[in-house]
Amino acid sequence: MFAASEAMPLVKTGGLADVIGALPKALANRGVDVTVVLPKYGEIPKAITDAVVTIAVIEVQLGWRRQYCGIQEVTVEGIRYLLIDNEFYFKRGYLYGYGDEAERFAFFSFAVLEMLGKLEQLPDIIHCHDWQTGLIPFLLRTRYAYHPGYQHIRTVFTIHNLQYQGVYSRELLQDLLATGDDSFTEDSLDFYGAGSCMKAGLRFADKLSTVSNTYAHEIQTPEYGEKLDGVIRQRSHDLWGIVNGIDTEVYDPMNDPHIAVPYRNSQAKKRQNKTALQQELGLPIDETIPMIGIVSRLTGQKGFDLIGEAMPELMKENIQLVILGSGEPGIEANLREALLKYRNKIALWFGFNEGLARRVYAASDMYLMPSRFEPCGLSQLIALRYRTVPIVRETGGLRDTVEPYNEYTGTGTGFTFGPATTHDLLYTVRRALAFYEKEEHWTRVVANGAKKDYGWESSARLYYKLYRELVS
Ligand code: ADP
Repeated sequence: MFAASEAMPLVKTGGLADVIGALPKALANRGVDVTVVLPKYGEIPKAITDAVVTIAVIEVQLGWRRQYCGIQEVTVEGIRYLLIDNEFYFKRGYLYGYGDEAERFAFFSFAVLEMLGKLEQLPDIIHCHDWQTGLIPFLLRTRYAYHPGYQHIRTVFTIHNLQYQGVYSRELLQDLLATGDDSFTEDSLDFYGAGSCMKAGLRFADKLSTVSNTYAHEIQTPEYGEKLDGVIRQRSHDLWGIVNGIDTEVYDPMNDPHIAVPYRNSQAKKRQNKTALQQELGLPIDETIPMIGIVSRLTGQKGFDLIGEAMPELMKENIQLVILGSGEPGIEANLREALLKYRNKIALWFGFNEGLARRVYAASDMYLMPSRFEPCGLSQLIALRYRTVPIVRETGGLRDTVEPYNEYTGTGTGFTFGPATTHDLLYTVRRALAFYEKEEHWTRVVANGAKKDYGWESSARLYYKLYRELVS
């Protein structure tokens, strides 16, 4: 049973939704019986919520509160979903960012565990994802430790992004969880005097995983460990690094209803997508101008500070920069300012737009992702699938999935740089632009990317192995 806070095609804010949408399908192909539990957000498409069947109505005790909890079932793309229904908590305008986030996800965690008792079959494993579900392993080992029938259930906790931790005051968590001081010791939820839902998952899950090998190593260092590196180091023997894939059926330029011209390897057809997007976004129409695309949450993590600093130099090049993103207003404002200066070279679209995202991947020649840290990153994989050459910083999953182009051996799928500096970013973009002008090199780097497999097959095999270790 997967417990998570978003999943495609129900609700999405980032890569987590892609993973929860795709991995269960790949596991089901290997014969695993998977159910996904999600909060029933107001944003879930009506076509899906219209098809749900209520299988139980229970009450969930959350400290002194007793809350309504509907459990609804629906099958989407062959996967069984259970939706936790409470409109007060989940029928809102957005998925995250409310003042009562701790209460919403504490409720979700209790609801998942209470719900199990209503199911015909208990899961062998609950696979929890990110801080929103970190309390589940904790509650299972403490409050529900002696719950009839639950003893055999094992838990896996996967870190998709260590930066978001769900840290709340001890008083608030004690109130929500109805726990005493004993739950706030150093080897429990305590996080520098507060309480951490991420740490709850890291401490109490039977196995841990994260979404690339390099990130698995990085988070054990103070530089990337977000103050939890010590906790993670202690559990390093239980930590697996398993790189994400993408759903190659969903992301398929040959079969993508959002793009102008379907293509697989034809550069000519890919360029038709470029001119179509130039027209859509009001950029000068010229298929020879290299287009650099970005589809991203606008956060510090993604290296927008480097892009901002590099902008004046970058804009001296003959390029078009297309950015689709949503997030921090400060980053948005800086990009708007750049737009005013370089109207003919930049196109911006703020907000979440799945269709436009696909058109940016399809139209761009290069995809820029200079992340300061990157647990896995799916955008570069989608770019590669759309024959768009990634330019990335060598960190986390970017390092594991983009092989630097070597002009002497002709190997490599993209362009990469190590130090997080404007200089290295500019040097690498210029290097990519230089090879773009040399057709034989460009054809090679694109073809190398096309040969790789970005699907879930091999990673699903590793998760299967991990689950086997737990239940054998
Ligand atoms: P993260 O999970 O850190 O946001 P990933 O690269 O792992 O980054 O995944 C991001 C996913 O979200 C990709 O599928 C990307 O295309 C998508 N995405 C990000 N921002 C937007 C946006 N503004 N509109 C549409 N899709 C977006």
